[in-house]
Amino acid sequence: MDKKIITVTAPLLPDLEEFNVLLKEIWDSKWITNNGSFHQRLEKALCEYLKVPYISLFTNGTLPLITAFQALHITGEVITTPYSFVATTHALWWNGIKPVFVDINPRTGNIDPNKIEAAITPRTTAILPVHVYGKPCDVGAIQSIADKYGLRVIYDAAHAFGVEVNGQSIINAGDVATLSFHATKVYNTIEGGALVMHDEKTKKRIDYLKNFGFASETEVVAPGINSKMDEVRSAYGLLNLRQVDAAIEARQKVAMAYRKALRNVEGISFWDDIPGVRHNYSYFPIFVDAERYGMTRDELYFKMKDRNVWGRRYFYPLISEFSTYRGLESANPANLPQATKMANSVICLPMHHALSEEDIQRTIDCIAK
Ligand SMILES: *Cc1c(COP(=O)(O)O)cnc(C)c1O
Repeated sequence: MDKKIITVTAPLLPDLEEFNVLLKEIWDSKWITNNGSFHQRLEKALCEYLKVPYISLFTNGTLPLITAFQALHITGEVITTPYSFVATTHALWWNGIKPVFVDINPRTGNIDPNKIEAAITPRTTAILPVHVYGKPCDVGAIQSIADKYGLRVIYDAAHAFGVEVNGQSIINAGDVATLSFHATKVYNTIEGGALVMHDEKTKKRIDYLKNFGFASETEVVAPGINSKMDEVRSAYGLLNLRQVDAAIEARQKVAMAYRKALRNVEGISFWDDIPGVRHNYSYFPIFVDAERYGMTRDELYFKMKDRNVWGRRYFYPLISEFSTYRGLESANPANLPQATKMANSVICLPMHHALSEEDIQRTIDCIAK
């Protein structure tokens, strides 16, 4: 019984025959990387799909973060959230920037704008928020603070592919925003990522930086890195873009089934859709109130695992609890009570386009009594 493992995510894969046709085109052209035709076509297609003016493709979702801080010459201290994937803060570390953690709003999981101002010092240069689980940050409130203090805003939008608020792409918020196209994400190019910007000059600078700093055959204008996406993954990405809307629709059905079945389970809570938001259903976090549920988060997590239903405790532990960051003053759990509470109560349920009704039911049966 219950032999088949239900994983928290499954990669969206293009049709293999269609992919082969494009591979043949790449083989015939013998142009396999360095801004080839598929790379150019994918950048154009993503700008249209995401409703953003400029995009620069990367080889994963961490390098655009690291490169963004280079491009904007960010130094000193940057205010960020501990409730995210560890790459968010690592991007600061790789730039020699000191992270300053600010607590989250328990209603969204995102950095609490009301707590940002108290963390600003003369050394603060930017804010690095994350649209956690694809739930939009309060971008208006964050921008007002940034404007008041002359700070840059760099969004880690790795979870927010395709998310819109009142028809506006959330990825346009801030000075720049980054995306991850990792295999586990809503939209993937196996490994991949991107940086979204608002003007051609920044796009050019980013394109230099991701290609060793080359501005021409003989000119190197900055100590750049190599993080270019190749033609094979660009072609794969073009095919996946055609089916990502169907995948998001399938995810929405899973979310609706979970909500219907778990709404009245004492001690289990979750978020509903926000009116006016086009969600991407990238994750389905539930929060366990151990006292009311009669079981701790970890007990439920391992009970699920025993039944081959693999949820994930995203984001536990908090980034601020890892050894690299734990010594920072702002990493003190007393400074981060809401994030600490969320990290200790969350389980992300299996959520992807290919879950069957039986998979969904098996997951629900683990949780509902
Ligand atoms: C996945 C992820 C990244 C990193 O993306 P990679 O493509 O895996 O390098 C960064 N930030 C967040 C919030 C993520 O979830």
